[in-house]
Amino acid sequence: MQQDGLIARLCNRPGLRLGVMGGTFDPVHIAHLVTAQEALVHFDLDQVLFMPAGDAPHKSRHGAPPEFRYLLVATATASNPHFSVSRFEIDRNKVSYTVDTLEYLAGIVPQGTEMFFITGADAVLEILTWKDPARVLELSAFIAATRPGYDLSRLSELLEELRSKTVDLVPEARVRIMEVPALAISSSMIRERLAVGKTVRYLVPDPVAELIDKSGYYKTGGSQTAGRKRCRP
Ligand code: NAP
Repeated sequence: MQQDGLIARLCNRPGLRLGVMGGTFDPVHIAHLVTAQEALVHFDLDQVLFMPAGDAPHKSRHGAPPEFRYLLVATATASNPHFSVSRFEIDRNKVSYTVDTLEYLAGIVPQGTEMFFITGADAVLEILTWKDPARVLELSAFIAATRPGYDLSRLSELLEELRSKTVDLVPEARVRIMEVPALAISSSMIRERLAVGKTVRYLVPDPVAELIDKSGYYKTGGSQTAGRKRCRP
C-alpha cells in the first residue's frame, strides 16, 4: 500500500490535528466542501484528508464506481491546500471498515496526532453497529455534521448509550456536533436532479459538473444523452 502523500509531507510535524472526511461522496457536492472547511476552522485542524469509501459495509451498491467518485473528490478539493484525498479505501479490494482505515492512519501519522473523523450525523448515529466501535472512538474523535432543524435528540440518545457502554471515554469529547446550513444539499438530491436532466450548477464545483456530464453516470439507465444539452457559443 502506497503511503498517502499528505501524511508523508506532514510526517515530521508533532501535535498534528488531522480531519478525516469519511463518506461515499456519490457524488461530492459543495456542502461536503463547506463541511470540511467549517471543521478545519472550528476545530483548528491542520489538514482535512478526504476518504472516499470503496465498498461501504452498509451498502449493496453505489451509483458510480469508486474510481470515478475518487476522481470527483480529487477534482473538487484540488484548489484547497488544506484538503487532500486518500486512495486507501478505494484501493482496498475489500469492504471499508472505518476501524481499519483509522488503524492504518494511526500507523503512519506522527506520534501525538489527534484525529477527527468528520461525517454526516445520520452515519454517526449508527456507530454502535460498526465494526469495533469502542476502538473506532478510541482512535478518533467524531464530528457529526448536521443540517439546521436536525433532530438532535437522537444524537443525545447515542451519547447516553455511549456513556453506559464506554468506561474510559467522555462521549461529549468523542462525538461533537457541527451544524452546517449548506447540508440542505445532499448527494441523493444531486442524483435525483441528474436523473431527470436538471442542472446541478452551483450545487457541485464546475469541474465536477463537467466530469459528471461527460461520464453519463447518474443519468437514468446510465444514458449519456438524458437531459437537453444547451448550445454553447
Ligand atoms: P450515508 O449513510 O450515505 O450518509 C448518511 C448521511 O450523512 C447523508 O445525509 C450524507 O449526505 C451525510 N454525509 C455522509 N458523509 C458526509 C460527510 N463527510 N460530510 C457531511 N455529510 C455527510 O453515509 P456514508 O457516506 O455511506 O458513510 C459515512 C462514513 O461512515 C463513511 O466513511 C463510511 O465508510 C463510514 N461507515 C463505516 C461503517 C463501518 O465501519 N462499519 C459503517 C457505516 C458507515 P450525502 O449523501 O450528501 O453525503
